[in-house]
Amino acid sequence: MIEGIINGSPMGQRRAIAKAITLLESTRADHRAKGDELLTALLPYTGKALRLGISGVPGVGKSTFIETLGVYLIDRGHRVAVLTIDPSSTVSGGSILGDKTRMERLSLLDGAYIRPSPSSGTLGGVAEKTREAMLVCEAAGYDVVLVETVGVGQSETAVSGMTDMFVLLQLPNAGDDLQAIKKGVMELADLVVINKADIDPNAALRARTQIQSALRLFGMHGNPEHALHDAQLWHPRVIQISGLKGQGLDDFWNAVTEFKTLQTANGRLMQRRQQQALAWMWERIHAGLRAAFRQHAGVRDALAGTTQAVADGQLAPSTAARRLLDLAAMPPHPV
Ligand code: GDP
Repeated sequence: MIEGIINGSPMGQRRAIAKAITLLESTRADHRAKGDELLTALLPYTGKALRLGISGVPGVGKSTFIETLGVYLIDRGHRVAVLTIDPSSTVSGGSILGDKTRMERLSLLDGAYIRPSPSSGTLGGVAEKTREAMLVCEAAGYDVVLVETVGVGQSETAVSGMTDMFVLLQLPNAGDDLQAIKKGVMELADLVVINKADIDPNAALRARTQIQSALRLFGMHGNPEHALHDAQLWHPRVIQISGLKGQGLDDFWNAVTEFKTLQTANGRLMQRRQQQALAWMWERIHAGLRAAFRQHAGVRDALAGTTQAVADGQLAPSTAARRLLDLAAMPPHPV
């Protein structure tokens, strides 16, 4: 499978990637062990792609833009993987993003690989699978990985936490901008893209000016990195495009390229990836500990009584927590 991913023919590679991702998504313990072996073998071949996160509310034009951008990049010799984190799948097992008719034109191109969101699990679990899929695609030589998510808060944080650059798509109207600012999502953005500028160029320009000054405010009061007015640092910027008409793609790609050059030169790209890798490890450790705690036989036996005692005010929450943690630290079947 490893050989197929790294050196396969385009068709063979596609099959090998799909097989690898299916293996990595499996919850069976023997599959997990094989999956870990695979990741370890692939790791030396990963890391060379540019990882771009793309988000925005439903209807803002994400799939239209990603398709147009994907075709544009493939025309210029890139290979583009599109991965998705669909927050609705983590709640209901349903899908906002997953319908098969999306990005039909892009999906037909040899240089494109499109994978829908893992279909269920916690957001942390889905994010883990997407990160692993990203590594598989990189090992196969995809040099641009686009990770898409719908704008609902938590999934945006997850996507920004696994990509080199986070792009927020916005509609050219102020109400929408305010929502993003309120949710704190705008602060995650390295680049804000006003889409649908073809409908009303003046509105798009107004939105651009507004958001640009909001970003400057974040720069002054928010992230201290942005406060340094240093030519070596990236300052988030706003551009306007039309994904439908394919307008503004050069501007977009120039901004992305400039970001990459700057962040590579100042070391931030590497730093961000290292932080992300460690955060990923700790997040998974915490998730594993939580699962082990809940599955522990002693904890399961004591949980109902202890939670009732806390609810009735007979046991301090901190005491209850300590008792349960002590239980979890013991062998599940003490002799
Ligand atoms: P998503 O939900 O964010 O993936 O949005 P879609 O890409 O499905 O687009 C939603 C609707 O907006 C579709 O009807 C698109 O044709 C339309 N749309 C997307 N981008 C543009 C654009 O740049 N200009 C105009 N006029 N319409 C657009």
